[in-house]
Amino acid sequence: MAYTQNPTSAKKAAFHRALQRWYETHGRHSLPWRNTSDAYAIYISEIMLQQTQVKTVLEHYYTPFLKAFPTLKKLAQADKQAVIKQWEGLGYYTRAANMHAAAKQCKGVLPETVEELQKLPGIGRNTANAIACFSYGQAVPIMEANVRRVLCRVFALTQADDKILWKKAEWLLDKKSSFNYNQAMMDIGALICKKLNPSCDTCPLSMICKGKISPVSYPAPKSSKATPIRHRIIVVLRDAKGGYYVRRRESRFLHGLYGFPEYAPDAKYIVYNNQKYPLKKTSIIGQIKQTYSHFTLQAIVHSLPVPMEKENAGDLYRATLKEMQTLPLSRADHKILGLFI
Ligand code: SF4
Repeated sequence: MAYTQNPTSAKKAAFHRALQRWYETHGRHSLPWRNTSDAYAIYISEIMLQQTQVKTVLEHYYTPFLKAFPTLKKLAQADKQAVIKQWEGLGYYTRAANMHAAAKQCKGVLPETVEELQKLPGIGRNTANAIACFSYGQAVPIMEANVRRVLCRVFALTQADDKILWKKAEWLLDKKSSFNYNQAMMDIGALICKKLNPSCDTCPLSMICKGKISPVSYPAPKSSKATPIRHRIIVVLRDAKGGYYVRRRESRFLHGLYGFPEYAPDAKYIVYNNQKYPLKKTSIIGQIKQTYSHFTLQAIVHSLPVPMEKENAGDLYRATLKEMQTLPLSRADHKILGLFI
């Protein structure tokens, strides 16, 4: 497949100098993960930032997580549920489960090579390269979402093809100053080469950028589809002693979080402990709406008094309201709790 030629080596060297100057003045130097060489702290930041804005990670998650699990060894020793509880609200919970599994797998010591890092669950090439560069000073490029967009524009690529992009990233890297180079590329993507309205006039890549005449064409925009709505019935099962029955999700979506049982919108029965209860025996206590990245949940919330169980009812776990506060719950389940407490 043919793709745009690289700029000359002289132009690349001039661009490296311009990028370094830009980073010195405008880079986000105060971000805490840029002021440490602790591979574990950098690893945490990289995983958190995969699907989440810097502001959210910075204000709510990075420091509390490190406080709760200050070392990879402590993370390996922690209970998986405690790790997911600490991750609550950040979304994409398999990230937390994978980090916990990775900590156990490498016995609390992160490997130093990109190849070994990539053998750990949840660590792909970008995360491995970021750890290798930012912690161990290795000259490897990174490719998070913002850098992908920048590279597509610099090389006027309509398709974000991984193989081509990594090749371009390797070629463009400033090997003598890879830490600053990679941080600068991320900052350019976040602050200047934004998805809409990029500020090409102030961009240090402008001297080599082939896409600046029509930046938003690179990569070619995807056709936007309306977010589907998922209708559900959610049932709060409560016994006479104040016990509630919740299920732990094992699927990829909301992995490890507990939640009130869900049913299809046309369900006629609620199943509790192998017993069928007609839906008409329930009472409606409210409605909730929760938007996720790929759908919007609209649920009618019912309640149903059920016989008490000592611990669990089948795959449902019994928890008092006090215990519920310690379980990892989704935002939707927190909203449901808000309907009756
Ligand atoms: S010159 Fe414009 S399109 Fe090119 S990288 Fe900079 S901001 Fe993006």
